[in-house]
Amino acid sequence: MAPSFKDKTTMPRMNPSANTSFWRYRRHPKWSRILQLVMAVAFVICLIYGFKGLGAGTPKTEVLKNGAYDGSKIYTSKDFTNAYGISQEDLSMLVPAPQQIGKEKATLIMLVRNREINDALKSMRAMEDRFNRKFRYPWTFLNDEPFTQDFINYTTGMASGNTYYGLISKDQWSIPHHIDQDKVKASMETMVSKNVIYAGSMSYRHMCRYNSGFFYRHPLLANFQWYWRVEPGVEYFCDIDYDVFEYMRVHDKVYGFVMAMYEYLVTIETLWDSTKEFIRKNPQYLASDNSLDFFVDNHPPTKSGEKEITGNYNLCHFWSNFEIASLDFWRSQAYQDYFSYLDSEGGFFYERWGDAPIHSLAVGLFLPKTKIHHFGDIGYRHPPYARCPQDVESHQSGRCFCSRRDHFDDDGYSCLPRWWNVAGQSVGAGIKQLV
Ligand code: GDP
Ligand code: MN
Repeated sequence: MAPSFKDKTTMPRMNPSANTSFWRYRRHPKWSRILQLVMAVAFVICLIYGFKGLGAGTPKTEVLKNGAYDGSKIYTSKDFTNAYGISQEDLSMLVPAPQQIGKEKATLIMLVRNREINDALKSMRAMEDRFNRKFRYPWTFLNDEPFTQDFINYTTGMASGNTYYGLISKDQWSIPHHIDQDKVKASMETMVSKNVIYAGSMSYRHMCRYNSGFFYRHPLLANFQWYWRVEPGVEYFCDIDYDVFEYMRVHDKVYGFVMAMYEYLVTIETLWDSTKEFIRKNPQYLASDNSLDFFVDNHPPTKSGEKEITGNYNLCHFWSNFEIASLDFWRSQAYQDYFSYLDSEGGFFYERWGDAPIHSLAVGLFLPKTKIHHFGDIGYRHPPYARCPQDVESHQSGRCFCSRRDHFDDDGYSCLPRWWNVAGQSVGAGIKQLV
């Protein structure tokens, strides 16, 4: 009978001289089985080490840069574990990023719309050049809509540290049930007729409410203690050679600002009354060496247990588009209670309460004045205002490049002279006459 090709034992060898070759083992069942076993074990080992190698050798920025990001999702460490087969152990080596140089649990935060990409990159470039390339702190971007792939790619490319992209949950960017929408509509119309800036914008109101009460609760920020708020389209004029977050921690500061000014009264008609009412109900939150003398002209020092705040609000506040601050302060019971109370009052919608006066009143009332820091050495522009350090050294050293005529500090609309009066003047700040 002619040998069948199915019959392996009688299969003709194509090359008789291959008698000593590897394949000759196939005809010995015992060796064949041992060989199969060895190969299977080797395969499993390769598989395990292959994945480990991928995890350990791939910096997280590359994981982020590979385009697999979905802006509509909030990413957690589990997503990385699932998508890349990286073990939790490897992940702990990757997060925080191995390339971060600064030692603080800090992030740069930008709340931003996709269409602001150009201005976002402009702010990032300045921030990276002046500060962050030396520290490589991560950037966290937040948006009420999913980020586009372009936004993610370009901003990740500009960042020297890790980048994170978070979507804001709808309930934090919508009108709460207790709000009377007809009343909102009517008040918006009245404000529009008075030409109040952003009077007719609902998204602006959501933004102010989000910055007041929610950003610090975003899951992406859970592991951070400090943040620097960055807005699209701003400029930083000076090299900042020290770690500002470390400075805050070491000097026991909670809130840092650069510019202070007056708020438009029409946007916060009842905020002062609501704040006074809150303190009446919660006098335990009023710090004894607070900044009331910054908010109320000639306010006397607060006596312990005092419930009644006297005097009128002079509308001074720290301009919150720049903030270097502790997230833990916003997470404190005092601030959460304050925000809940304000939110229940409805002023974010009936008026157009800004996050700047709310943040300012909170840090100014709940904290001792010494925990607030004026960064007089930081040059900054957020249109339409700019401030340039006034001391000679900042300019002669080449540290700053800006015109000392950009001098909002002692502008008639600036509240900084009041701050100097109650808290003293910081290095780099200064009125023109001192130069
Ligand atoms: P202004 O500084 O008070 O004039 O207000 P901006 O227009 O600069 O807004 C303040 C911040 O909130 C900026 O970082 C904006 O990019 C951001 N922002 C304002 N409105 C929206 C919005 O509707 N969606 C998102 N995602 N960000 C917003
Ligand atoms: Mn702005």
